Amino acid sequence: MSNYHIKHLEEYFQVYRKSIRNPESFWDEVAEEHFVWRKKWDKVLDWDFSKPEIKWFEGAKLNITENCIDRHLHIRGDKTAILFEPNDPKEEAQHITYKELHEKVCKFANVLKDKGIKKGDRVVIYLPMIPELAISLLACARIGAVHSVVFAGFSSTALSTRINDCGAKMVLTSDGSFRGSKTIDLKGIVDEALTQCDSVESVLVAKRTKTEVTMEEGRDFWLEPLLEKAYADCEPEVMDAEDPLFILYTSGSTGRPKGMVHSTAGYMVYTAYTFKNVFQYREDDVYWCTADIGWITGHSYIVYGPLANGATTVMFEGVPSYPDFGRFWEIVQKHKITQFYTAPTAIRALAKENLDFVTEYDLSSLKILGTVGEPINEEAWHWYNDHVGEKKCPIVDTWWQTETGGVLISPIPFSTPTKPTYATLPMPGVQPALMDENGNEIKGNQVDGRLCIKFPWPSIARTIWGDHKRYKETYFSAFDGKYFTGDGALRDEVGYYRITGRVDDVIIVSGHNLGTAPIEDAINEHQAVAESAIVGFPHDIKGNALYGYVILKETGESRNRENLKKEINQVITEHIGPIAKLDKIQFVPGLPKTRSGKIMRRILRKIASKDTSNLGDTSTLLNPEVVEKIMEESL
Ligand code: ATP
Ligand code: MG
Repeated sequence: MSNYHIKHLEEYFQVYRKSIRNPESFWDEVAEEHFVWRKKWDKVLDWDFSKPEIKWFEGAKLNITENCIDRHLHIRGDKTAILFEPNDPKEEAQHITYKELHEKVCKFANVLKDKGIKKGDRVVIYLPMIPELAISLLACARIGAVHSVVFAGFSSTALSTRINDCGAKMVLTSDGSFRGSKTIDLKGIVDEALTQCDSVESVLVAKRTKTEVTMEEGRDFWLEPLLEKAYADCEPEVMDAEDPLFILYTSGSTGRPKGMVHSTAGYMVYTAYTFKNVFQYREDDVYWCTADIGWITGHSYIVYGPLANGATTVMFEGVPSYPDFGRFWEIVQKHKITQFYTAPTAIRALAKENLDFVTEYDLSSLKILGTVGEPINEEAWHWYNDHVGEKKCPIVDTWWQTETGGVLISPIPFSTPTKPTYATLPMPGVQPALMDENGNEIKGNQVDGRLCIKFPWPSIARTIWGDHKRYKETYFSAFDGKYFTGDGALRDEVGYYRITGRVDDVIIVSGHNLGTAPIEDAINEHQAVAESAIVGFPHDIKGNALYGYVILKETGESRNRENLKKEINQVITEHIGPIAKLDKIQFVPGLPKTRSGKIMRRILRKIASKDTSNLGDTSTLLNPEVVEKIMEESL
């Protein structure tokens, strides 16, 4: 029996049990059989969550790009590695084969070296979703430089904060970026950011939009001419297993961003393993994850995981609404996508639109659908299942975090029976635990608590860049000897997990723990409601009471507001119980969201508690204007 590729439920349970009984021998076997190493490890695992210190495959030597590129050259050199779909559907898609990828990465790596970048140096990447973005990650990894991608929708302040935090020597960017009908002046944003940064010595600029930009003499260089002159082979730097591969800042929905540091060997092994199983990838599949590489999802499941498996991975430059709301489905049809992985926020946005945008296209190539980023509400799950998957594609609701590097809880398609809103079962090697407020583990099923992980898995982040103390405090101090995820979860009668939201968002009303996700889920079932967010606010008698922010569908706009409020509470009473009824309901035009599409509840919490003097870091907000509007009309 191979541990690497699980094909049915019985096998999952066998592999899972084995992985828990002896995690070291389990991962030893996976690492041994499926990767290329310059030198094997002396020890599989060394760990101490109290420090915390975690080391996987100590003593091993490798380069991740040899695993993602070189080893495929003789077997699938002419296979498409990266399939680039541009923003404008009229522009031709690009198929970059493994051979071409090898050449492009080597050339890019040589340019970095020429500009003085060495092993261990930090390079901040602020590029749109064009091939150069994926190539630049791999080029850094080729020479042992530590990349830190900053999503190219972030402001100059967010960018300079991150550059300074990691002390980057170089920034990679482009003249501009295309997003739908808009062109964004990326280079201008970089210039503004760099007025606040001293560490940056050079900026390499890719050409995309042909926007006029200013180039600072001696600091800024066009990338193309440098690549043209560069040598097409670059010997990979031999890295230690625990050498940092990249730093990635969390999306910032809960406060000051944390630079999560991921190391090389464990990250590679875990992302490759989970990619293979969660997406059941097969040689001729065309896999598409719609995330931006600026998020962990893009790092692990557009770049490293797929390429380590020799997959064809799609990179899409544009947005789901351009030129119209059918764009995703047009791409699925055009490239015969087999696995499609997106976020609940995108599903909800598309489900609001006319169904013709979906039915117009042939989606019969699809085999597996995935979701990540937030709890998916039941209505969105069904819409995805019925209209996109046509009820024949299992939905993998993958729960994980920037900190975890890879998926920790998810169904294995065609093995694990899915259940709407449930991430279901842990991946092999992952040992979840639910904890109560007193720090005791809650055993058994049909229970809920704070979600912790008891044992390290290979791709757990090793530290927060420059702040190990914060790493310890944030993740290893709430519960002794356990990694605390910050999320709440429940375990149902068969042991399936459902993520109920962040623990900060679990609201205790009259002594009852109420997760926000199930309440929002109930409200969203009302036919006039498009989306909602629930927060708690202090209440004299109940301790806390619930405040609901509700976006109406167009059809709900004309309805009597007082009646709607009654109906919403009625739906909650039916689905959850009267304890979860809302004290206040405010109808809003939008909700404050991060650029990755997540609701920033801490802002809503402050507004509900009438504590708006300091809203905290809002530099990563997509729609700051909506905050003003909500404040003006708050109850
Ligand atoms: P920050 O930590 O800076 O506040 P963030 O938590 O939004 O940002 P990510 O690491 O991108 O940054 O997101 C991880 C979080 O997203 C999880 O902790 C969880 O709350 C939520 N999440 C991700 N996937 C799922 C899922 N399938 N179901 C429910 N929640 C999910
Ligand atoms: Mg988080």
